[in-house]
Amino acid sequence: MKLVDLSTYTSIKIGPSLHVQIIEEPLHVENFILGGGNNILVSPNPPKMAMLGRVFNFLHVKKNLLHIGAATPSGKILSYAKKHDIKNFELMQKLPGTLGGMIKMNAGLKEWEIFNNLVAIKTEHGWCAKKDIKFGYRHTNIKGTIYEATFEIHKGFDTTLLEMFKLLRDNQPKLPSAGSCFKNPPHNFAGKLLDESGLKGFKVGDMAFCETHANFLVNLGNGTFEEAMELINIAKKRVFEKSEIELELEIKIVGQLN
Ligand SMILES: Cc1cc2nc3c(=O)[nH]c(=O)nc-3n(C[C@H](O)[C@H](O)[C@H](O)COP(=O)(O)OP(=O)(O)OC[C@H]3O[C@@H](n4cnc5c(N)ncnc54)[C@H](O)[C@@H]3O)c2cc1C
Repeated sequence: MKLVDLSTYTSIKIGPSLHVQIIEEPLHVENFILGGGNNILVSPNPPKMAMLGRVFNFLHVKKNLLHIGAATPSGKILSYAKKHDIKNFELMQKLPGTLGGMIKMNAGLKEWEIFNNLVAIKTEHGWCAKKDIKFGYRHTNIKGTIYEATFEIHKGFDTTLLEMFKLLRDNQPKLPSAGSCFKNPPHNFAGKLLDESGLKGFKVGDMAFCETHANFLVNLGNGTFEEAMELINIAKKRVFEKSEIELELEIKIVGQLN
């Protein structure tokens, strides 16, 4: 067990301190799996949590496939790809998270997604090929805990693409957030819908939809779970009233209010 203060660990800087189970071998785990905490909003009453131990933080090549442990942070994967001239990992530039969280969320930007280059994942049920996983925009049907994954190796790390990701992400707000709050609805943009509903810069307490990027729910200092939930509910209601579009959350709400 390890004591984790979620108000400093998570990127949105909200959540209580709790004892988290550390997983050292690929077992079935009932508890909520905490990755890097970059896509979650945790309530003051969280479920029991577990996180992967250091043994799952690795990269190595075996039989022409790149094996990566699910606790490996994106920055380490990107550095490895750059050093060994491997392409298709450029999207990890300034994309915060661990491999497990990135695969579970099918993280990415525009047409670049973590699944593009994925071969298989290993969970407590064994290896599972990409063709047997249902995945789409910021969604997968993966059950269980991801411990490791394999990727194709193609030479040619693309520094131009890296620069493009850097520029795109440099425009993202620097204030604490959990990334995009809502998914983009088909043929539309959540940020545009929020802006059109007058929610850009809209605040409840110390939480706000960012002035520069309406779809980022940001913590202005001492923001709380309750304030974040109030904003989310206001946004869903207002956007539906204005556009008849039901916004779907991209960030994961973990735990209940009471
Ligand atoms: C500033 C900022 C910018 C961002 N930009 C982007 C972006 O451009 N594109 C994008 O897609 N996302 C973006 N995000 C969101 C975030 O980076 C991704 O969702 C990332 O994949 C989260 O990884 P994590 O390890 O932090 O997961 P967490 O937030 O800890 O967890 C996310 C989900 O994954 C599950 N999970 C974590 N590890 C495992 C595992 N080993 N096995 C099974 N399930 C697991 C958790 O239970 C949870 O359901 C951004 C976030 C921030 C703060």
